[in-house]
Amino acid sequence: MKLVTEQMEQFLSGGAWIRKIFEHGLELKKQYGEDAVCDFSLGNPDLPPPAVVGECLAELAEQADKPFAFGYMPNPGYPAVRAALAEHLSKEQGIAIAAEDLLLTCGAAGGINCFFRAVLTPGDEVICPNPYFVEYGFYAGNSGGILKPVPTKPDFDLDIAAMEAAITPRTRVVLINSPNNPTGMVYSKETLTELAAMLTRASAGRERPIYLLADEPYRFLAYDGAEVPSVLPLYPYSLVIGSFSKNLSLPGERVGYVVVSPLMEGRAQLVAGLVFANRILGFVNAPAVGQALLLRALGQEVDRGIYERRRAAMAGVLTRAGYEFIMPRGAFYFFPKSPDADELVFLDRLAKERVLAVPGRGFGMPGYFRLAFCVDEAVINRSEAGFARAIRG
Ligand code: PLP
Repeated sequence: MKLVTEQMEQFLSGGAWIRKIFEHGLELKKQYGEDAVCDFSLGNPDLPPPAVVGECLAELAEQADKPFAFGYMPNPGYPAVRAALAEHLSKEQGIAIAAEDLLLTCGAAGGINCFFRAVLTPGDEVICPNPYFVEYGFYAGNSGGILKPVPTKPDFDLDIAAMEAAITPRTRVVLINSPNNPTGMVYSKETLTELAAMLTRASAGRERPIYLLADEPYRFLAYDGAEVPSVLPLYPYSLVIGSFSKNLSLPGERVGYVVVSPLMEGRAQLVAGLVFANRILGFVNAPAVGQALLLRALGQEVDRGIYERRRAAMAGVLTRAGYEFIMPRGAFYFFPKSPDADELVFLDRLAKERVLAVPGRGFGMPGYFRLAFCVDEAVINRSEAGFARAIRG
Protein backbone atom coordinates (compact mmCIF):
# COMPACT_ATOMS: atom_id res chain seq x y z
CA MET A 1 0.00 0.00 0.00
CA LYS A 2 1.33 3.41 -0.97
CA LEU A 3 0.35 5.65 1.90
CA VAL A 4 2.33 8.72 0.81
CA THR A 5 3.46 10.11 -2.54
CA GLU A 6 6.75 9.02 -4.08
CA GLN A 7 8.04 12.53 -3.59
CA MET A 8 7.22 12.40 0.13
CA GLU A 9 8.90 8.99 0.33
CA GLN A 10 12.01 10.56 -1.18
CA PHE A 11 11.88 13.48 1.27
CA LEU A 12 11.58 11.07 4.17
CA SER A 13 14.48 8.86 3.10
CA GLY A 14 16.62 11.87 2.08
CA GLY A 15 16.38 13.23 5.60
CA ALA A 16 17.21 9.90 7.24
CA TRP A 17 20.57 11.12 8.54
CA ILE A 18 18.86 14.06 10.30
CA ARG A 19 16.69 11.61 12.17
CA LYS A 20 19.76 9.48 12.87
CA ILE A 21 21.53 12.41 14.53
CA PHE A 22 18.43 13.37 16.46
CA GLU A 23 17.82 9.81 17.67
CA HIS A 24 21.49 9.33 18.46
CA GLY A 25 21.33 12.52 20.56
CA LEU A 26 18.28 11.28 22.44
CA GLU A 27 20.01 7.95 23.08
CA LEU A 28 23.16 9.65 24.38
CA LYS A 29 21.11 11.93 26.66
CA LYS A 30 19.20 8.94 28.03
CA GLN A 31 22.38 6.97 28.59
CA TYR A 32 24.60 9.68 30.07
CA GLY A 33 22.13 12.37 31.18
CA GLU A 34 21.20 15.67 29.51
CA ASP A 35 24.15 17.46 31.06
CA ALA A 36 26.72 15.06 29.65
CA VAL A 37 25.79 15.80 26.02
CA CYS A 38 26.83 18.99 24.20
CA ASP A 39 24.05 19.43 21.66
CA PHE A 40 24.81 22.06 19.01
CA SER A 41 22.41 20.60 16.46
CA LEU A 42 19.30 22.77 16.78
CA GLY A 43 18.79 26.46 16.02
CA ASN A 44 16.11 26.72 18.69
CA PRO A 45 16.77 29.95 20.64
CA ASP A 46 17.13 29.11 24.34
CA LEU A 47 17.01 32.67 25.76
CA PRO A 48 13.74 33.66 27.42
CA PRO A 49 11.65 36.29 25.62
CA PRO A 50 11.78 39.87 26.99
CA ALA A 51 9.68 40.40 30.14
CA VAL A 52 7.06 42.39 28.24
CA VAL A 53 5.95 39.15 26.55
CA GLY A 54 4.82 37.67 29.89
CA GLU A 55 3.11 40.93 30.87
CA CYS A 56 1.24 41.00 27.58
CA LEU A 57 0.13 37.38 28.01
CA ALA A 58 -1.30 38.23 31.46
CA GLU A 59 -3.22 41.14 29.93
CA LEU A 60 -4.53 38.89 27.16
CA ALA A 61 -5.71 36.39 29.79
CA GLU A 62 -7.75 39.18 31.39
CA GLN A 63 -9.45 39.82 28.06
CA ALA A 64 -9.98 36.14 27.25
CA ASP A 65 -13.69 36.14 28.22
CA LYS A 66 -14.54 38.90 25.72
CA PRO A 67 -16.22 38.00 22.42
CA PHE A 68 -13.75 37.76 19.53
CA ALA A 69 -10.80 37.99 21.93
CA PHE A 70 -9.03 35.54 19.62
CA GLY A 71 -11.26 35.95 16.57
CA TYR A 72 -10.38 35.87 12.92
CA MET A 73 -8.76 39.04 11.71
CA PRO A 74 -8.27 40.58 8.24
CA ASN A 75 -5.98 38.29 6.22
CA PRO A 76 -2.98 40.69 6.20
CA GLY A 77 -3.09 41.00 10.02
CA TYR A 78 -4.62 43.29 12.64
CA PRO A 79 -4.63 46.87 11.25
CA ALA A 80 -2.95 48.27 14.40
CA VAL A 81 -0.16 45.69 14.18
CA ARG A 82 0.36 46.32 10.49
CA ALA A 83 0.56 50.08 11.09
CA ALA A 84 3.01 49.76 14.01
CA LEU A 85 5.19 47.34 12.06
CA ALA A 86 5.23 49.68 9.04
CA GLU A 87 6.51 52.49 11.26
CA HIS A 88 9.12 50.23 12.85
CA LEU A 89 10.33 48.85 9.50
CA SER A 90 10.53 52.30 7.93
CA LYS A 91 13.27 53.11 10.45
CA GLU A 92 14.94 49.72 10.35
CA GLN A 93 15.01 49.40 6.55
CA GLY A 94 15.74 53.08 5.88
CA ILE A 95 12.82 53.62 3.49
CA ALA A 96 9.23 54.81 4.05
CA ILE A 97 6.98 51.75 4.28
CA ALA A 98 3.18 51.98 4.41
CA ALA A 99 0.97 49.51 6.29
CA GLU A 100 -0.42 48.45 2.88
CA ASP A 101 3.05 47.30 1.79
CA LEU A 102 3.27 44.48 4.34
CA LEU A 103 1.39 41.57 5.84
CA LEU A 104 1.76 39.48 8.99
CA THR A 105 2.53 35.81 8.37
CA CYS A 106 3.05 32.53 10.22
CA GLY A 107 6.73 33.19 10.80
CA ALA A 108 9.28 33.69 8.05
CA ALA A 109 8.46 30.17 6.85
CA GLY A 110 4.81 31.11 6.25
CA GLY A 111 5.92 34.32 4.53
CA ILE A 112 8.27 32.55 2.13
CA ASN A 113 5.54 30.05 1.26
CA CYS A 114 3.03 32.87 0.61
CA PHE A 115 5.52 34.59 -1.66
CA PHE A 116 6.34 31.47 -3.66
CA ARG A 117 2.64 30.63 -3.97
CA ALA A 118 1.97 34.14 -5.31
CA VAL A 119 4.78 34.34 -7.89
CA LEU A 120 5.97 30.88 -8.97
CA THR A 121 4.57 29.02 -11.95
CA PRO A 122 5.45 25.31 -11.79
CA GLY A 123 8.93 24.83 -13.28
CA ASP A 124 10.13 28.32 -12.26
CA GLU A 125 13.59 28.51 -10.72
CA VAL A 126 14.68 30.03 -7.43
CA ILE A 127 18.39 30.82 -7.21
CA CYS A 128 20.02 30.84 -3.81
CA PRO A 129 23.64 30.95 -2.65
CA ASN A 130 25.04 27.64 -1.41
CA PRO A 131 25.16 26.61 1.48
CA TYR A 132 21.55 27.39 2.36
CA PHE A 133 18.74 26.76 4.83
CA VAL A 134 17.52 23.34 3.72
CA GLU A 135 13.82 24.17 3.95
CA TYR A 136 14.10 26.56 0.98
CA GLY A 137 14.03 23.64 -1.46
CA PHE A 138 10.86 22.24 0.10
CA TYR A 139 9.19 25.66 0.22
CA ALA A 140 9.92 26.28 -3.48
CA GLY A 141 8.68 22.76 -4.25
CA ASN A 142 5.40 23.45 -2.45
CA SER A 143 4.56 25.87 -5.27
CA GLY A 144 6.12 23.79 -8.06
CA GLY A 145 9.36 25.79 -8.02
CA ILE A 146 12.87 24.38 -8.34
CA LEU A 147 15.67 25.56 -6.06
CA LYS A 148 18.99 26.17 -7.85
CA PRO A 149 21.79 26.59 -5.31
CA VAL A 150 24.79 28.51 -6.69
CA PRO A 151 28.29 28.26 -5.18
CA THR A 152 29.52 31.15 -3.02
CA LYS A 153 33.07 32.49 -2.72
CA PRO A 154 35.48 30.72 -0.33
CA ASP A 155 34.49 33.19 2.43
CA PHE A 156 30.78 32.45 1.71
CA ASP A 157 30.21 35.87 0.15
CA LEU A 158 27.93 36.07 -2.90
CA ASP A 159 29.52 35.10 -6.20
CA ILE A 160 27.48 37.44 -8.36
CA ALA A 161 29.07 36.31 -11.63
CA ALA A 162 28.11 32.70 -10.79
CA MET A 163 24.58 33.84 -9.93
CA GLU A 164 24.28 35.73 -13.22
CA ALA A 165 25.51 32.67 -15.12
CA ALA A 166 22.83 30.55 -13.40
CA ILE A 167 19.96 32.77 -14.59
CA THR A 168 17.69 31.23 -17.24
CA PRO A 169 14.38 32.31 -18.76
CA ARG A 170 12.71 30.32 -15.93
CA THR A 171 14.46 32.24 -13.12
CA ARG A 172 11.82 34.00 -11.04
CA VAL A 173 13.45 34.64 -7.67
CA VAL A 174 16.88 35.16 -6.14
CA LEU A 175 16.68 34.29 -2.46
CA ILE A 176 19.34 35.50 -0.04
CA ASN A 177 19.64 35.19 3.73
CA SER A 178 21.77 37.64 5.71
CA PRO A 179 22.93 37.17 8.45
CA ASN A 180 23.19 33.68 7.09
CA ASN A 181 22.19 30.28 8.39
CA PRO A 182 24.47 28.25 8.37
CA THR A 183 27.56 30.43 7.67
CA GLY A 184 27.00 33.59 9.73
CA MET A 185 27.88 35.66 6.63
CA VAL A 186 26.55 39.23 6.39
CA TYR A 187 26.49 40.72 2.88
CA SER A 188 27.90 44.24 2.53
CA LYS A 189 26.09 47.15 0.91
CA GLU A 190 28.60 47.04 -1.93
CA THR A 191 27.82 43.37 -2.64
CA LEU A 192 24.06 43.94 -2.48
CA THR A 193 24.32 46.97 -4.76
CA GLU A 194 26.23 44.84 -7.26
CA LEU A 195 23.58 42.12 -6.97
CA ALA A 196 20.82 44.68 -7.56
CA ALA A 197 22.61 45.99 -10.65
CA MET A 198 22.97 42.44 -12.00
CA LEU A 199 19.26 41.74 -11.42
CA THR A 200 18.26 45.02 -13.06
CA ARG A 201 20.26 43.94 -16.15
CA ALA A 202 18.82 40.44 -16.08
CA SER A 203 15.22 41.62 -15.63
CA ALA A 204 15.37 44.22 -18.42
CA GLY A 205 12.99 43.38 -21.24
CA ARG A 206 11.35 40.52 -19.35
CA GLU A 207 7.61 40.34 -18.94
CA ARG A 208 8.11 38.92 -15.45
CA PRO A 209 10.79 40.54 -13.27
CA ILE A 210 13.28 38.51 -11.28
CA TYR A 211 12.44 39.15 -7.64
CA LEU A 212 15.03 39.54 -4.91
CA LEU A 213 13.82 38.03 -1.65
CA ALA A 214 15.84 38.77 1.49
CA ASP A 215 15.11 36.35 4.33
CA GLU A 216 16.12 38.20 7.51
CA PRO A 217 15.18 36.35 10.71
CA TYR A 218 18.68 37.08 12.10
CA ARG A 219 18.84 40.78 11.17
CA PHE A 220 19.09 41.82 14.85
CA LEU A 221 22.09 39.58 15.49
CA ALA A 222 25.13 41.11 13.76
CA TYR A 223 28.41 41.29 15.66
CA ASP A 224 31.24 43.81 15.96
CA GLY A 225 29.03 46.59 14.62
CA ALA A 226 28.46 44.86 11.25
CA GLU A 227 25.78 46.66 9.24
CA VAL A 228 22.97 44.61 7.70
CA PRO A 229 22.00 46.76 4.70
CA SER A 230 18.43 46.71 3.42
CA VAL A 231 17.72 45.55 -0.13
CA LEU A 232 14.45 47.50 -0.33
CA PRO A 233 15.99 50.82 -1.45
CA LEU A 234 18.40 49.04 -3.82
CA TYR A 235 16.10 47.14 -6.17
CA PRO A 236 12.42 47.80 -6.94
CA TYR A 237 11.47 44.13 -7.25
CA SER A 238 12.73 43.29 -3.77
CA LEU A 239 10.97 41.99 -0.67
CA VAL A 240 12.07 41.38 2.89
CA ILE A 241 10.82 38.55 5.03
CA GLY A 242 11.25 38.90 8.77
CA SER A 243 10.38 37.02 11.88
CA PHE A 244 10.14 37.35 15.65
CA SER A 245 11.27 33.77 16.23
CA LYS A 246 14.83 34.73 17.08
CA ASN A 247 14.90 38.37 18.24
CA LEU A 248 12.03 37.82 20.70
CA SER A 249 12.65 34.07 21.17
CA LEU A 250 9.11 33.26 20.02
CA PRO A 251 9.66 30.51 17.41
CA GLY A 252 6.68 28.46 18.58
CA GLU A 253 4.34 31.44 18.30
CA ARG A 254 4.71 31.66 14.52
CA VAL A 255 4.76 35.35 13.75
CA GLY A 256 6.63 37.07 10.95
CA TYR A 257 5.98 39.34 8.00
CA VAL A 258 6.56 40.06 4.33
CA VAL A 259 7.26 43.61 3.17
CA VAL A 260 7.35 44.70 -0.46
CA SER A 261 9.71 47.45 -1.65
CA PRO A 262 7.85 50.76 -1.86
CA LEU A 263 9.80 51.34 -5.09
CA MET A 264 7.89 48.54 -6.86
CA GLU A 265 5.35 49.93 -9.30
CA GLY A 266 1.94 48.27 -9.16
CA ARG A 267 2.88 46.43 -5.94
CA ALA A 268 -0.74 46.43 -4.69
CA GLN A 269 -1.36 43.41 -6.93
CA LEU A 270 1.60 41.52 -5.47
CA VAL A 271 0.52 42.36 -1.90
CA ALA A 272 -3.02 41.19 -2.76
CA GLY A 273 -1.53 37.92 -4.06
CA LEU A 274 0.51 37.46 -0.87
CA VAL A 275 -2.54 38.15 1.29
CA PHE A 276 -4.63 35.69 -0.72
CA ALA A 277 -1.92 33.05 -0.32
CA ASN A 278 -1.89 33.77 3.45
CA ARG A 279 -5.57 32.85 3.43
CA ILE A 280 -5.52 29.72 1.28
CA LEU A 281 -2.34 27.89 2.25
CA GLY A 282 -4.02 26.28 5.23
CA PHE A 283 -2.53 28.15 8.15
CA VAL A 284 -4.95 31.09 7.61
CA ASN A 285 -3.05 34.23 8.73
CA ALA A 286 -0.63 34.91 11.56
CA PRO A 287 -1.85 33.84 15.04
CA ALA A 288 -3.82 36.38 17.10
CA VAL A 289 -1.69 35.93 20.24
CA GLY A 290 1.56 36.23 18.31
CA GLN A 291 0.40 39.50 16.73
CA ALA A 292 -0.62 40.91 20.12
CA LEU A 293 2.77 39.98 21.59
CA LEU A 294 4.57 41.54 18.68
CA LEU A 295 2.64 44.80 19.00
CA ARG A 296 3.70 45.10 22.64
CA ALA A 297 7.28 43.91 22.21
CA LEU A 298 8.13 45.67 18.93
CA GLY A 299 11.56 47.28 19.22
CA GLN A 300 12.65 45.05 22.10
CA GLU A 301 14.85 41.97 21.80
CA VAL A 302 16.56 39.23 23.78
CA ASP A 303 19.93 40.00 25.39
CA ARG A 304 22.31 40.04 22.40
CA GLY A 305 25.32 40.26 24.72
CA ILE A 306 24.73 36.63 25.70
CA TYR A 307 25.05 35.50 22.08
CA GLU A 308 28.16 37.67 21.70
CA ARG A 309 29.84 35.97 24.67
CA ARG A 310 28.89 32.52 23.41
CA ARG A 311 30.29 33.32 19.98
CA ALA A 312 33.60 34.31 21.55
CA ALA A 313 33.61 31.17 23.71
CA MET A 314 32.87 28.89 20.74
CA ALA A 315 35.54 30.59 18.60
CA GLY A 316 38.03 30.02 21.45
CA VAL A 317 37.12 26.34 21.77
CA LEU A 318 37.41 25.71 18.01
CA THR A 319 40.64 27.68 17.61
CA ARG A 320 42.42 25.97 20.51
CA ALA A 321 41.29 22.57 19.22
CA GLY A 322 42.68 23.40 15.76
CA TYR A 323 39.54 23.73 13.60
CA GLU A 324 39.38 25.83 10.45
CA PHE A 325 36.46 28.25 10.35
CA ILE A 326 35.38 31.73 9.31
CA MET A 327 34.24 33.85 12.23
CA PRO A 328 30.46 34.37 11.87
CA ARG A 329 29.53 38.03 11.50
CA GLY A 330 25.93 37.38 12.44
CA ALA A 331 23.30 34.78 13.52
CA PHE A 332 24.14 32.02 16.01
CA TYR A 333 25.98 29.43 13.95
CA PHE A 334 29.54 28.36 13.12
CA PHE A 335 30.20 26.47 9.90
CA PRO A 336 33.69 24.96 10.30
CA LYS A 337 35.49 22.74 7.83
CA SER A 338 35.36 19.07 8.70
CA PRO A 339 38.81 17.62 9.47
CA ASP A 340 37.74 14.50 7.49
CA ALA A 341 36.69 14.98 3.85
CA ASP A 342 33.52 13.02 4.71
CA GLU A 343 31.94 15.03 7.51
CA LEU A 344 29.68 12.13 8.48
CA VAL A 345 32.76 10.12 9.50
CA PHE A 346 33.97 13.05 11.60
CA LEU A 347 30.55 13.73 13.14
CA ASP A 348 30.32 10.09 14.20
CA ARG A 349 33.61 10.51 16.04
CA LEU A 350 32.42 13.80 17.54
CA ALA A 351 29.20 12.14 18.72
CA LYS A 352 31.31 9.51 20.52
CA GLU A 353 32.64 12.50 22.47
CA ARG A 354 28.96 13.34 23.12
CA VAL A 355 29.12 16.47 20.99
CA LEU A 356 26.35 16.82 18.38
CA ALA A 357 26.42 18.90 15.19
CA VAL A 358 24.69 18.88 11.78
CA PRO A 359 26.52 17.75 8.61
CA GLY A 360 27.20 20.40 5.96
CA ARG A 361 25.45 18.25 3.35
CA GLY A 362 22.22 19.18 5.15
CA PHE A 363 22.88 22.70 3.82
CA GLY A 364 24.11 21.61 0.40
CA MET A 365 27.79 21.65 1.39
CA PRO A 366 29.47 18.37 2.33
CA GLY A 367 32.86 18.61 4.04
CA TYR A 368 31.61 21.13 6.62
CA PHE A 369 29.47 20.96 9.74
CA ARG A 370 27.17 23.39 11.53
CA LEU A 371 27.22 24.27 15.20
CA ALA A 372 24.27 26.22 16.66
CA PHE A 373 25.45 28.17 19.69
CA CYS A 374 22.03 28.91 21.19
CA VAL A 375 23.08 26.85 24.21
CA ASP A 376 24.46 27.81 27.61
CA GLU A 377 28.06 29.03 27.62
CA ALA A 378 28.90 26.23 30.07
CA VAL A 379 27.98 23.67 27.38
CA ILE A 380 30.32 25.39 24.92
CA ASN A 381 33.20 25.34 27.41
CA ARG A 382 32.50 21.73 28.36
CA SER A 383 32.71 20.64 24.71
CA GLU A 384 36.37 21.68 24.32
CA ALA A 385 37.98 18.37 25.32
CA GLY A 386 35.64 16.44 22.98
CA PHE A 387 36.42 18.73 20.05
CA ALA A 388 40.14 18.39 20.75
CA ARG A 389 40.02 14.57 20.86
CA ALA A 390 37.72 14.26 17.80
CA ILE A 391 40.05 16.26 15.52
CA ARG A 392 42.96 13.93 16.37
CA GLY A 393 41.00 10.96 15.00
N1 PLP B 1 14.88 31.28 7.41
C1 PLP B 1 16.00 30.89 8.04
C2 PLP B 1 17.31 31.16 7.41
C3 PLP B 1 15.92 30.22 9.27
O1 PLP B 1 17.05 29.83 9.88
C4 PLP B 1 14.65 29.95 9.83
C5 PLP B 1 14.52 29.22 11.09
O2 PLP B 1 15.44 28.70 11.65
C6 PLP B 1 13.52 30.38 9.13
C7 PLP B 1 13.66 31.04 7.93
C8 PLP B 1 12.13 30.14 9.66
O3 PLP B 1 11.84 31.06 10.66
P1 PLP B 1 10.40 31.19 11.30
O4 PLP B 1 10.44 30.52 12.63
O5 PLP B 1 10.18 32.65 11.43
O6 PLP B 1 9.44 30.56 10.36
